[in-house]
Amino acid sequence: MTTQSHRAERVSAPAGSVEFDADVLVLGGGPAGTWAAVSAAERGARVVLADKGFCGTSGATAAAGTGVWYVDPDPALREAAMADREKLGGYLQDRRWMARVLDRTYQQSNRLADWGYPYPTDDRGKPQRNSLQGPEYMRLMRKRTKQAGVTILDHSPALELLVDDDGAVAGASGERRQKREERHHRQSRKSRIAAQPAEPVPNVLPNALHASPPLTPVRVSAAAQRRQLSFATILEPAHG
Ligand SMILES: Cc1cc2nc3c(=O)[nH]c(=O)nc-3n(C[C@H](O)[C@H](O)[C@H](O)COP(=O)(O)OP(=O)(O)OC[C@H]3O[C@@H](n4cnc5c(N)ncnc54)[C@H](O)[C@@H]3O)c2cc1C
Repeated sequence: MTTQSHRAERVSAPAGSVEFDADVLVLGGGPAGTWAAVSAAERGARVVLADKGFCGTSGATAAAGTGVWYVDPDPALREAAMADREKLGGYLQDRRWMARVLDRTYQQSNRLADWGYPYPTDDRGKPQRNSLQGPEYMRLMRKRTKQAGVTILDHSPALELLVDDDGAVAGASGERRQKREERHHRQSRKSRIAAQPAEPVPNVLPNALHASPPLTPVRVSAAAQRRQLSFATILEPAHG
């Protein structure tokens, strides 16, 4: 079982808000977010994961069945799998990425099996790992994320990214919606979520104990929001 001793630290914050000091902040608790959070925590990072819904049930995968490109690491099988996809994709793929995806998918699927994901078996008893049931998969990912020591903030949409003095994104702020609902009955519960980058940078938290020089809250989230609302995503090269 994976455990880690480091947890994100809740730091002093104005009344009605919460603030965390962490090495890694993950926004979104779907497959990408939970795997990233687990990986960072397993490497000793103090991690906060914030999801606008409930991590484990939110995101596209949690409500669906998912086909998985699980291919045994037999060179002939891998070659056939890549050739098949190249044909489907008009030969636009980069084989280095395909090989990486195949490797990582194989490793992570086997980890899921080790963690207890109930893969079915075929007539000869061989596990079938080329698909996942979203609800079981993401429920397991939530459990493993918590076991890794990650602080999960549910119903906590990130609304702004925070930058340091050099303009580098170094945190985020948002709301805890369930707490905010209490406002109807009591006072506002707007919350801040902040995290340091993996490289320790001193004094990056606004309104925290060590707040000089502070992060500058700026609205750099508009592009990200538009991208989210546009729904479609594409692969694009890192250059050009
Ligand atoms: C109909 C359908 C079929 C699919 N079939 C397959 C398939 O067979 N095989 C396959 O590999 N893929 C399939 N996919 C794609 C797959 O579901 C996605 O690639 C996968 O869910 C992406 O994971 P993710 O973690 O990047 O994003 P998501 O699963 O979308 O998770 C994003 C998370 O971020 C949270 N979030 C969003 N904005 C904020 C914010 N501002 N603050 C905090 N949290 C936020 C959301 O609540 C959500 O939990 C399918 C998708 C669909 C819609």
